[in-house]
Amino acid sequence: LANRAFHPEDSIIDVAGVKVGGDHLALIAGPCSVESKEQVIMIAKAAKAAGANMLRGGAFKPRTSPYAFQGMGTAGLDILLAAKEETGLPIVSELMSAEYIEEFNEKVDLVQIGARNMQNFDLLKEVGKRCTKPILLKRGLSATYEEWIMSAEYIMASGNPNVILCERGVRTYETYTRNTLDLQAIPVIKRLTHLPIIIDPSHAGGKWWLVEPMAKAAVAAGCDGLMIEVHNDPEHALCDGPQSLKPEKYTELLKQVGEIAHIV
Ligand code: PEP
Ligand code: MN
Repeated sequence: LANRAFHPEDSIIDVAGVKVGGDHLALIAGPCSVESKEQVIMIAKAAKAAGANMLRGGAFKPRTSPYAFQGMGTAGLDILLAAKEETGLPIVSELMSAEYIEEFNEKVDLVQIGARNMQNFDLLKEVGKRCTKPILLKRGLSATYEEWIMSAEYIMASGNPNVILCERGVRTYETYTRNTLDLQAIPVIKRLTHLPIIIDPSHAGGKWWLVEPMAKAAVAAGCDGLMIEVHNDPEHALCDGPQSLKPEKYTELLKQVGEIAHIV
């Protein structure tokens, strides 16, 4: 179903009125995790002013350590909704358990399946069957293109055709960076499938100063969007502060990205 051979045109996915794919760039920004209402509304307003067209924020967080902040849960989703009311930005948030699908259908506009759940096949099937919103499927930490595409296929074959792929860096022998951004994923995915592919340079490099050069390269390579972590106070963020951009930096970045997108 994802195969380009049977569907030559690019798919364009509608996320609460924001189109992704074709000539439309998804510009998703926001904190790694929802921390408070004040925080999310402040970041959402700054992101919107910078030109972002969607707001991200994790309410359910897949943390490596069980002792790390696990997210605010459903209270976090309500905070995202309040930010949507203020700014009009559609909401992107990660779903970790099928238990919450109906709640996400009500509150979230683009449902993220994280890297760690890319091959949680039962979750993929439930999301395909029951999720009424488009899905953002992140690439697994060490997933091949074939494995990643097959995970999209699980969702599509189970009844939800609206899948956007997200490259977020893969694990390599390098330890200086958090992961290694695979820019080749953009032309490869576009050749093999008709699905939009966006790039998350924040989780790829793990360092805020790597976000700008990699975001620019990704747009030059023809990606369909960028998901970037933005935080008002990265030093004190409860999750992923070192890779988060301050709103001023994000604003500068989108100006430069806009120029590149214009040429491409
Ligand atoms: C995230 O987007 O905050 C996240 C946890 O991403 P990933 O699943 O790519 O690690
Ligand atoms: Mn994060």
